Amino acid sequence: MLRGMKRLNRYENRILKIAKLGGKLVRLKQYGFSTKTEEGFRFPIYVLEIGKPKALKKNLAGVIAGVHGLETIGIRVLLDFLDYIFARKTSVLYQEIKNGEVGIVCIPILNPGGVALKRRSNPKGVDLMRNSGVEAVKAPFFFGGHKYSNIFPYYRGKVLQTESRVLDRFFHEYFLKAENEMIPVVDIHSGFGVVDHVWWPYASTHEPCVDETLFQKIAFHFTNSLNHFLYRFGPQSETYTTHGDLWDRLYDRFQKITHETRTVQKSRFLPLTLEIGTWSDINIDPLKLFRKRGIFNPARESKQKSIVSHRKFLTDMMRLAKMNSSDLS
Ligand SMILES: [Zn+2]
Repeated sequence: MLRGMKRLNRYENRILKIAKLGGKLVRLKQYGFSTKTEEGFRFPIYVLEIGKPKALKKNLAGVIAGVHGLETIGIRVLLDFLDYIFARKTSVLYQEIKNGEVGIVCIPILNPGGVALKRRSNPKGVDLMRNSGVEAVKAPFFFGGHKYSNIFPYYRGKVLQTESRVLDRFFHEYFLKAENEMIPVVDIHSGFGVVDHVWWPYASTHEPCVDETLFQKIAFHFTNSLNHFLYRFGPQSETYTTHGDLWDRLYDRFQKITHETRTVQKSRFLPLTLEIGTWSDINIDPLKLFRKRGIFNPARESKQKSIVSHRKFLTDMMRLAKMNSSDLS
């Protein structure tokens, strides 16, 4: 566990540094704990609130990483993005945050126990992205999530895990109360494939979600007006279906609650998964196939380049929070 702990400490130090750099514009909250390890350890889960209180309510966006403990590239992309905003304080997004036009909430590491133990699942062996209880119409055997045992990967768990409940609370406290028309939330993962995918709901079914048209409009805008043509947009089920996706559950909950209360009816909750393809550099570093974290993370030489390349994408995603869907072209 020692090397994993060191890695986790390094990330936590970077989170502290960002909170310090951000001054009054950043608030660091200890928001909950992970499930316990066999030895009885629990790891803190942090939330960063970025921007003025008014913007956090009226122009809110979100970023999450570290749902899977081995996909550390996602955590580094998130931290690099925040470093980039606050280290030089010259970007357009920094100005917008300062002016109260954009507010961002982050969970840099939802599964700190998985990072410390160097595994995909949480300390109880549950794959958080199979844990929501949503049943897929038809999911691939095993990989799509199973209920056999936590000794195998992709285990769904019997109950909603502490980490999943932290995400629930985060959703209720921030996204459900936000008043902007488009509430973009990016959850950063890695692995599987040679291109970077951007997925919207659903993971559980090929049925289009109610915001399918809006998601397609965003994809068109990103590809054609903002030049993000290296990202491949689409509903997650186009790539593969799974049981228990946490975003499927929260997305449906948002529709249900806003339908019942009609208080924030015009707002759209737009969860997107950025799945960074890390197989493209296997030819540079063929040995990565044999390393545990290998297939989920880019080769060392191209790592920094890969991390930096997502700054503009995340910037443009966060800026959706201050736009109207009619501004998309
Ligand atoms: Zn993942």
